[in-house]
Amino acid sequence: MAGKTLFKRIIDREIPADIVYEDDLSLAFRDINPQAPVHILVIPKQEIASLADAGDEDGALLGHLLLVVRNLAREQGLANGFRTVLNTGGHGGQTVPHLHFHLLGKRALSWPPG
Ligand code: 5GP
Repeated sequence: MAGKTLFKRIIDREIPADIVYEDDLSLAFRDINPQAPVHILVIPKQEIASLADAGDEDGALLGHLLLVVRNLAREQGLANGFRTVLNTGGHGGQTVPHLHFHLLGKRALSWPPG
């Protein structure tokens, strides 16, 4: 059986993280290598490897995660805008196989991404 992912170990408090929000379904913590003054990861407690692995039954959970992102953006004072990123798979730049939204803000972000 495969070992726990890094983010599952954060959920289980085996690895410390700067947690900014938690509820029954989700956890949010600051990225260890921030790409903007605000860089928070929002993850489901349910182990879903990526968006490509999400099922139709996960729709409400995915919507919930986006509302957590919205609430955190408000709390973090990102009224000038922010970016929400969901990397999927190798070409998508995903490095941790546990679905996660990035919330980036407090600086102007360029487009398109690399
Ligand atoms: P991905 O590249 O999969 O979209 O994003 C994974 C993110 O997890 C990266 O931005 C990376 O900096 C972050 N990360 C990797 N290891 C850790 C860790 O141990 N703690 C925290 N808080 N973030 C991590």
